[in-house]
Amino acid sequence: MLHPLTRLCRDCGRLDDDVTDPGAVCPGCGSARVIAHPELRSLSIAHVDCDAYYASVEKRDRPELADQPLIVGGSERGVVTTCCYIARQYGVRSAMPTSRALQLCPHAVVLRPDMEKYQRESRRIKDLMRVATPIVEAVSIDEAYLDLSAAAAERNEPPARSLARLSLQIERKIGVTVSIGLAPNKMLAKIASDMGKPRGFSVIGNADALDVIGPMKISAIPGVGPVMSRKLEELGLLLVSDLWTASESDLIHRFGLWARRLVTFARAQDERKVSASRGASVTIGAETTFNADLRTFAQIDVELRPLCETVARRLSKSGLAASGLTLKLRRADRRTITRACRLRDPTAQAELILKAVHPVLAAELDGQPYRLVGVTATRLVSDRLADPPDLFASIRSKSLADQD
Ligand SMILES: [Mg+2]
Repeated sequence: MLHPLTRLCRDCGRLDDDVTDPGAVCPGCGSARVIAHPELRSLSIAHVDCDAYYASVEKRDRPELADQPLIVGGSERGVVTTCCYIARQYGVRSAMPTSRALQLCPHAVVLRPDMEKYQRESRRIKDLMRVATPIVEAVSIDEAYLDLSAAAAERNEPPARSLARLSLQIERKIGVTVSIGLAPNKMLAKIASDMGKPRGFSVIGNADALDVIGPMKISAIPGVGPVMSRKLEELGLLLVSDLWTASESDLIHRFGLWARRLVTFARAQDERKVSASRGASVTIGAETTFNADLRTFAQIDVELRPLCETVARRLSKSGLAASGLTLKLRRADRRTITRACRLRDPTAQAELILKAVHPVLAAELDGQPYRLVGVTATRLVSDRLADPPDLFASIRSKSLADQD
């Protein structure tokens, strides 16, 4: 059955609904960079990944290298950290010894990495992302997950269109290209961003997810490295679809609990939220004005407790945890006092938030009447830093050389 498509032009932003044949070019501007998908208007989770990031930054700064194979990495005894797409045509790959890379591509230019510069540009890229949506979860120096659902609704614009604009802005303002994956969840978005590199924009929807990932090798699932894929292969599990019929309890028995997540991922399901992480300047707070002025710790504590619960609930909903807290008190004479404290471990739990602000409250009270209390979670971090360690995290660790 043919589903009507929504078509987007990545260059002029033109959107057309109910398209049956996406055509080769945009009817508005003639650009060939059109994408079409039945769920294009509704999908809102994106993975944005810079293409050959270090090499792209270097080529931007040295235009004379534009058409040359470029390797960023150690000296001859080191390894390739990133190589440009021209070098890849010669078989050069990340993590390959530089000496081997130079055998394959003797005329490649080798540059030492300038991490400070890449970090600086990374911050600028993430600032642009945060214009598209405040919910940006940086995964590494050159990639991030974005949740555009709320931002796009506010703007009354499908997330796909905001993303097309974002990729053009990154090209224009930073001078590097990105590949975008748009999907219903993080895992699928990550797979999608890998499908069209470089300068890609790939979409995986709810309806086609299993058709798309089923025939892929299991190593396409984020977090499955070469060691794990070899072990799975020994069990006859080669493709993602092989995991649909595999015994989950047997896999858990062999590989531990993360196998459960692997099986869930293979079914195209991923409940993880995009959590606005580093650099996000948001705070989450709640406050209340009393019906009558209060004086004692016990009285104000009764009011404070539900506020901590509200803050905890909002943190969890956003996938965030507080590593700082601010207590706010307003006296009957309207003087407002705010006191900040740091937490040893980030938390999103109401009890721990309450426990942390108790001594701050106790230190402030002096028998005067108060009319308002508030608590705000600050220095927000991903809740992954607060909750029990993510079982999948251990196999998600990426080496520097693996940053494409
Ligand atoms: Mg990359």
